[in-house]
Amino acid sequence: MNSRRRFLTLSALGSLTGIGSHQTFGQSKHVKGPIIISTWKTGLRANDRAYEVLQNGGSVLDCVEKGVNVIENDPNNRTVGIGGFPDVEGNVTLDACIMDQRQRCGSVAFLQHIKNPVSVARKVMENTKHVMLVGEGALKFALEQGFKKEMLLTEETLAAWKKRKVEVGKKLPEINIENHDTIGMIARDADGNLSGSCTTSGAGMKLHGRVGDSPIIGAGLYVDNDIGGAAATGWGEAVIENAGSAMVVELMRHGRSPQEACEEIVKRIANKFEDWRSIQVGFIALNKAGQIGAFSIRKGFTYAHHHGGANSEKPADSLLKEG
Ligand code: ASP
Repeated sequence: MNSRRRFLTLSALGSLTGIGSHQTFGQSKHVKGPIIISTWKTGLRANDRAYEVLQNGGSVLDCVEKGVNVIENDPNNRTVGIGGFPDVEGNVTLDACIMDQRQRCGSVAFLQHIKNPVSVARKVMENTKHVMLVGEGALKFALEQGFKKEMLLTEETLAAWKKRKVEVGKKLPEINIENHDTIGMIARDADGNLSGSCTTSGAGMKLHGRVGDSPIIGAGLYVDNDIGGAAATGWGEAVIENAGSAMVVELMRHGRSPQEACEEIVKRIANKFEDWRSIQVGFIALNKAGQIGAFSIRKGFTYAHHHGGANSEKPADSLLKEG
């Protein structure tokens, strides 16, 4: 479909689905107290831990690191950290990044054998002059920083990988309900300072060496302490092509609510990505005032929202009404 036809289709979809009629987070309303949002249902456990860290006097940066560590450490989660789904050759390769209220950021990509890539990313941010380390270099650095080399491929994930390999044969990886679950988290502390984190094993059955959006500052995650933060999940290539999270934050800078900003960038991706109906992409966003937003291409994207002592999973609105 050419881009004009795609645009027209989307305009029609917009009027059918109420796109543009964003949720009711009044622009002027300031939400008090710490707020933590993270992608998917798994975010609930991460949020609980993140909140606990804040309650115990940790910084908002500690909160977004320790929160997502919980999911990285869970061998039963197939899309993050230990137990993460391997690439097409059977290697678990992890991507992660972190960004704080001082605009500092750290990132690791294509990292093997270390189950907490987000913590390695934090060390890159704090202990080097660089932002991003990849592959062997990232592993060497992690070991020097005291991280332990571990086998990340669990028996269960290996069995699932073998089964999937037979099913997909030589097909390129696809994001579907079984293989997307990247955790992205944005938090604001009681003083209004923001930080964010993002960690994943990436698209299941990806090519060896493939890096997705999650460790790329501006794609999988972006935080500007003056404005807000955003994180992405889903088909990373489409997010990278559109500098997704940075664009969500930029729209908030220009006055859009987090909900409007997420919707606009999902629509932009759908307009530009030829096979947009076959992929999932979702964003969460939180602004300085504490307003939140979430939106995805396909139905089924959820996020976890922690505020005022309550932590709950919420469905995001979507462009397509089917999953
Ligand atoms: N965004 C991740 C990637 O493309 C995958 C995901 O969110 O599930 O690597």
